[in-house]
Amino acid sequence: MAKKESRAAQRERLLQAAADVKTPSDCDVMVIGGGAAGLTAAICAAEEGASVVVLERDLECGRSILATGAGRCNFANVQLDARRFNDPSFVAEVCGARWLDDVLGFFRDCGMRWCLEDDRLYPMSRQAASVRNVLLARARKAGVVLAPAREFQSASWIKAEWLGEIDDAVHYRPETSTTQPAGMAEVAHTLPLSENGALYLPGARAVVLASGGEPLPFMGELGLSLVERTPVLCPLACEDSPLSVLDGRRAHVLARLTKKDSLFPSYQERGEVLLRSYGISGIVSFNLSRRAGTGDLVELDLAPDLNESQLRQLVDPFASGDFEAGCLDGVLDPAIAEQLEHLARRRWHIDWDERKEPQSDSETLMMLVKRLPFVVKGPAETEKAQVTRGGLANDQFNPTTLAHHELPWLYACGEALDVDADCGGFNLAWAWKSGMVAGTAAARWALS
Ligand SMILES: Cc1cc2nc3c(=O)[nH]c(=O)nc-3n(C[C@H](O)[C@H](O)[C@H](O)COP(=O)(O)OP(=O)(O)OC[C@H]3O[C@@H](n4cnc5c(N)ncnc54)[C@H](O)[C@@H]3O)c2cc1C
Repeated sequence: MAKKESRAAQRERLLQAAADVKTPSDCDVMVIGGGAAGLTAAICAAEEGASVVVLERDLECGRSILATGAGRCNFANVQLDARRFNDPSFVAEVCGARWLDDVLGFFRDCGMRWCLEDDRLYPMSRQAASVRNVLLARARKAGVVLAPAREFQSASWIKAEWLGEIDDAVHYRPETSTTQPAGMAEVAHTLPLSENGALYLPGARAVVLASGGEPLPFMGELGLSLVERTPVLCPLACEDSPLSVLDGRRAHVLARLTKKDSLFPSYQERGEVLLRSYGISGIVSFNLSRRAGTGDLVELDLAPDLNESQLRQLVDPFASGDFEAGCLDGVLDPAIAEQLEHLARRRWHIDWDERKEPQSDSETLMMLVKRLPFVVKGPAETEKAQVTRGGLANDQFNPTTLAHHELPWLYACGEALDVDADCGGFNLAWAWKSGMVAGTAAARWALS
């Protein structure tokens, strides 16, 4: 059996491979960031006939794709709908009426086939590596120069990272000089300003910003307008979480969100939640994190398939005001049922919206089953957030081409823009389609 390559050996191999990449001194389109959107933009630009270089700070292009969909890559959704995004009109204009066909056509041309789980699309292999590999293969076939281990760091130079500095602990030395650091002869370009003061890249007639959710340090220098970034699609921390002792348990629920200044729910979603000591996690809570703020109320219906009278039959059929221990064991996870019974005996309730106190143990238990309340403190485990809201303000880009209104050589796509969506393949569907639009338009501009 072949011996597994150690992490250190893999790193060495990738660094060497990155060092072996010769970046041309001149290209039509330079793509900054070789993730989902950047690779798509690069492929589309190259297939338009442009020469393309992708600068990627990681040791390989496409690594960000590998973690998606828990390693399976939920790459799109058959119900692509701009209303699932924070800026529906911009997304609808960019993606057009044939959005899903365009995405599936693109992957069909990559040689990938897919399968469906509910509305979610996965590669047939159910391996994110399949998606990454077909993109890399198509990019190479189209002649794209993939240049990993290069971080585009400032408006004045591009830094090469293969000299042993790309270590988790030792990162980027702020560089103020425009002279090339020793040893970086082949990839370090200096980026002077053009006559009218705008930045342009010698050798790159058009630039596509595809750097994902982190701001590039030079965006401000270019005068680009930025929307403050916040992590979304992450767990929610809640005040006095009633099921905190059941950390790690899962429940199938209908969750309803009521904003703190409202009496009525503004959003609801059915699915699984993961109970955490600090609050709730899982896809339902990720989607809630895009909508919930501090002080808002999330109520979980833990038995969404039972109506009130069916539940009453189980809990208190004779309206005695009491319930028998274990009365919900056949409906709920017994550990959750036991904890709810315990809370019901204490008449546990919250002061939110001055709601009235439950009048009996059985009424409390039914309330806890149908409307288990969680008052939101804010996002939790933000380092694991799946996307970032904010970034380059959308209104400075033309939705037909994703070109900057005032810097016609500058394009943006993917999460670099202020676009985020629910879980379910929407974010990647945006990355692919916006990459197609920006890459194609950048190539046409560069070649015109
Ligand atoms: C754990 C996890 C699971 C997810 N699962 C799904 C899912 O199943 N379905 C879905 O639709 N979405 C999912 N997402 C969201 C999805 O991954 C993103 O929406 C998508 O990757 C955004 O694509 P992008 O190309 O804009 O950014 P990224 O994929 O983040 O790519 C940006 C690239 O730019 C590089 N870069 C950054 N700065 C620089 C620089 N200065 N110079 C050079 N390179 C730079 C980065 O290294 C990176 O490779 C998930 C996200 C996470 C974190």
